[in-house]
Amino acid sequence: MKVFLELGWFFKQEKKAYISGVFLLLLVAMLQLVPPKVIGIIADHIHEGTITKAMLVEWVIVLIGVAIAMYVLRYYWRIMIFGSSVKLSKILRNRLYQHFTNMSPAFYQKSRVGDLMAHATNDLSAIQQTAGAGVLTLVDSLSTGGFVIIAMAFTISWKLTLICLIPMPFMAMLTSWFGSMLHKSFYKAQEAFSSLNDKTQESITGIKVIKTFGQEQEDIEDFRKQSEDVVQKNIVVAKIDSLYDPTISIIVGISFFLSIAFGAKFVLNGDLSIGELISFTTYLGLLIWPMLAFGWLFNIVERGRASYDRVAALLREKVEITDHEKALDTVPYGDIQYQIAEFTYPGDAQPLLKDISVSLHAGETLGIVGKTGSGKTTLLKLLIREFEGYQGEIRFGGQKLQDYKLEKLREAIGYVPQDHFLFSASVAENIAFTDPTATIEEIERAAKLANIHDDILQFTDGYQTIVGERGVSLSGGQKQRISIARALLMNPEVLVLDDSLSAVDAKTEEAILSSLRQNREGKTTIITSHRLSAIQHASLIIVLENGQVIERGTHEDLMELDGWYKEMYLHQQLEELVEHGGH
Ligand code: ADP
Repeated sequence: MKVFLELGWFFKQEKKAYISGVFLLLLVAMLQLVPPKVIGIIADHIHEGTITKAMLVEWVIVLIGVAIAMYVLRYYWRIMIFGSSVKLSKILRNRLYQHFTNMSPAFYQKSRVGDLMAHATNDLSAIQQTAGAGVLTLVDSLSTGGFVIIAMAFTISWKLTLICLIPMPFMAMLTSWFGSMLHKSFYKAQEAFSSLNDKTQESITGIKVIKTFGQEQEDIEDFRKQSEDVVQKNIVVAKIDSLYDPTISIIVGISFFLSIAFGAKFVLNGDLSIGELISFTTYLGLLIWPMLAFGWLFNIVERGRASYDRVAALLREKVEITDHEKALDTVPYGDIQYQIAEFTYPGDAQPLLKDISVSLHAGETLGIVGKTGSGKTTLLKLLIREFEGYQGEIRFGGQKLQDYKLEKLREAIGYVPQDHFLFSASVAENIAFTDPTATIEEIERAAKLANIHDDILQFTDGYQTIVGERGVSLSGGQKQRISIARALLMNPEVLVLDDSLSAVDAKTEEAILSSLRQNREGKTTIITSHRLSAIQHASLIIVLENGQVIERGTHEDLMELDGWYKEMYLHQQLEELVEHGGH
């Protein structure tokens, strides 16, 4: 029942609705006591032959009145309690979502998307059930059970009440045993569901790869297995759950047996009237629901607790990259200086970057080249604070990156990642992602700079063409250029192109770069590229190898060095020549 305490903050927040709901619930529990009593009274009158028509009509009116009152009250407590519990899942869902958006890439590296989705769906609905049906069953079973027992003991016979309660301690033991069994099995079932979710998400995202390699059958088989696992684990839950009801029925049956056996004796002795025995057994019938509800309550609460534990653990995950209290509320501007002694990715043993010391004046262009895996992207990710925890510092405009609010830092940097992502929205909306208020002229200007304007005009609906999962298929180069336009629309202090021109041909690349040079005068640009022609004009070029700078200088400086850069440059020129047949 700890989960009710843990949800205390919510009940407090919604106390009006809960108090009224519980109050109405108690009224209904009391009203329920009336019909059995009335039946007993009528039975006695019939037995004694004193029944009159007027009396019967009177009691029937009372019964109808009680039924109507219960109907109305039940309607209102349902609205109050169930209505409030929906709010709980809304609050938790929003918290989770906000938390998800605040988490850094390191978190997403270790979490599985399907699992996160399962938290946001299945777990939240289990918690909502606890706050709704859980509270209802708790209050209802305790109050109905309590009132019925009181009515039996005080208005009929305390002796018979004690006798019929003899099997109850067994029930309490069984209930608690069922509870712990359910908790374990439910946790496993939820985990299996998470895995299945993850598998489905991954397969659908990777469907093209699956098809390309003809792995459909294997994938279907894998899905079938996981789906089977979910079923099996839920069957275990259902089996434990199903054991509960028959067990309760037997215990209630024993109670009935005891009360009729002893009740009959009391009637014969003259301690009890026949009508009272009828009322008593009818009351006993009313106890079945609270007992079943108790088992049900365990089930709901155990599910709720398992889910709340999972969600709470997720919400406790620290947001690693945050603003410190005195962070500057200004958009950074100026020189950029890397002074990094060492950077190691979380969980890795070896440092990836070592002894990086690079300075760039505002308005200059930095080119970063080197083999795949040499650390180019990592260097950029540190600048946008996707990762931290390096020894050393990075300064921007004289201040450390951490001195600025994250939001302001990122406002200064237009980052075009390698794995560009387009949303299922129009081309215009995708470009205006960073500034939805941008005018169509501004969007077009950015698109022209990124050399994608003419392509867009060719699409059926021009700038209004929908792209992404449900829209037109774009080539890799088109996607790259839309991503670049998106960054250019911000007109950022620093434009970061992370191998963002890899899918366009050399001529388009040159056209884009030269229009950037003309239009971004005074602004800083950082480019990583496999094609050295892309960074040839940079003010400073660094060559990375195994996370260290092995060569640095301008294109001319590097050509004189006879190192990696020169060799690569000549090699690429030759390649170009071969490709174009020497023209
Ligand atoms: P480049 O851009 O030069 O190809 P990267 O900076 O992308 O190189 O990657 C350098 C190395 O860091 C690679 O060996 C890669 O496996 C590793 N790496 C990249 N991202 C991560 C990460 N998020 N966590 C752990 N290792 C990473």
